[in-house]
Amino acid sequence: MIYNLNVGDNMSKVVVIGGGASGVIAAIKASNNNDVTILEGNDKLLKKLLLTGNGKCNYWNESIDETKYCTDDKTKLNQILKYKDETLNFLYKLGLYPKIKNGYYYPYSESSNSVREILIKQLKKSKVKIITDFKVDDIKYTNEFIIKSKEKIIKCDKLIIATGSKSYPKTGSDGSGYNLATSFNHTINEIKPSLVPLKLEGNYLKDWDGIRTLAHVKLINDNKIIKEETGEIQLTNYGVSGICIFNLSGKLKNKSSLEIDFLPNINNLYNFLTDRDKEIGGTVEDILESIFNYKLMFVLLKKSGIKTNTKWNELKETEKHKLCETIKNFSANIIGTLDFDRAQTCSGGIPLNEINETMQSKYNKNLYFTGEIIDVNGDCGGYNLAFSFITGYICGRNLNDSN
Ligand SMILES: Cc1cc2nc3c(=O)[nH]c(=O)nc-3n(C[C@H](O)[C@H](O)[C@H](O)COP(=O)(O)OP(=O)(O)OC[C@H]3O[C@@H](n4cnc5c(N)ncnc54)[C@H](O)[C@@H]3O)c2cc1C
Repeated sequence: MIYNLNVGDNMSKVVVIGGGASGVIAAIKASNNNDVTILEGNDKLLKKLLLTGNGKCNYWNESIDETKYCTDDKTKLNQILKYKDETLNFLYKLGLYPKIKNGYYYPYSESSNSVREILIKQLKKSKVKIITDFKVDDIKYTNEFIIKSKEKIIKCDKLIIATGSKSYPKTGSDGSGYNLATSFNHTINEIKPSLVPLKLEGNYLKDWDGIRTLAHVKLINDNKIIKEETGEIQLTNYGVSGICIFNLSGKLKNKSSLEIDFLPNINNLYNFLTDRDKEIGGTVEDILESIFNYKLMFVLLKKSGIKTNTKWNELKETEKHKLCETIKNFSANIIGTLDFDRAQTCSGGIPLNEINETMQSKYNKNLYFTGEIIDVNGDCGGYNLAFSFITGYICGRNLNDSN
């Protein structure tokens, strides 16, 4: 089946592949001055958006700047992020009223569904055509783009590839967009799961499974601290999870390790434990049991080689220091991450240095990229949706201006 896009005079035919956060914003913005069609592989748009922020959609953050992202090109990223205020204002004018908690933006309704509905209504108002169940598997270019799925063909003058990454492939972002990009000579920086739990080496993992605790965590590579975070972590039977672990995962190298401080609010642990011994006396278990969950306490004592019923004042100095070291600098080798189906984003993608600041490809002036397909991945906290919205906005704005 060949779709014929009838357009008005002087209007370009623009196709957006991917009806996710960035593709939808690009389509809405570009529709002022273009005839826009979204091709979506799923039977509906914005499937991933519904899952974001545990269904509450943390779509923005008041601290957006380049330090919150990993990318191949920080200079280009800074040029892109200059449009953050304009984009936030655009979202507001579309009808997205925020609730701001500690700098994190959610819709006031705290419902990702309401964000989806606002965007879908706006697509209709903007007369954007939507073709679902159109999984693009091939694109050719000879003066115009010829876009093919198994059964259908569509042609256009300008093309936006907004197919996302490989994270949560069940939402439709299965990595097929990377193949489409390479057919235009783009390279793909290595794709890895990011914002994802970490797998650790250690025979104690089953013993601490199910615990949540406050910690300061450091990602170490070649004896250097690559990134550090404080917050609640979850101890699991494969390793560690939680927002601050996710934020480290994007910087993982082959031989990284994790250092965990299980009592980040106590600086001099040796003195603290000595004082507690003076106050309450008893065994190390008596001293530690109201501080740690039992499962974690037993892991810490076992790793330090100390029996639970030993009295603090009976321990050798080396044993006391060993226990303090285990609690404050618990070190574990990282042996990998969980897979793409548990990763909120991916690191890698199309290098930013192959795209100019209007999101246009360096290799074809009628081709654009937006959102997570690009090699930019942010921390947890609204930074990834924000990047998708900003790049969609910039691209749509540029397509309006270029007519
Ligand atoms: C569980 C979860 C929670 C998250 N929570 C947050 C959060 O709270 N805050 C935040 O900022 N970020 C969050 N993220 C990340 C955020 O959702 C993504 O960064 C963002 O959705 C990326 O937008 P995108 O438009 O680039 O890609 P996507 O939203 O993935 O959209 C891509 C679209 O392209 C379609 N597609 C792919 N290939 C093809 C093809 N070949 N043909 C046709 N269509 C195709 C897909 O079906 C999909 O609809 C979360 C992610 C997950 C998985």
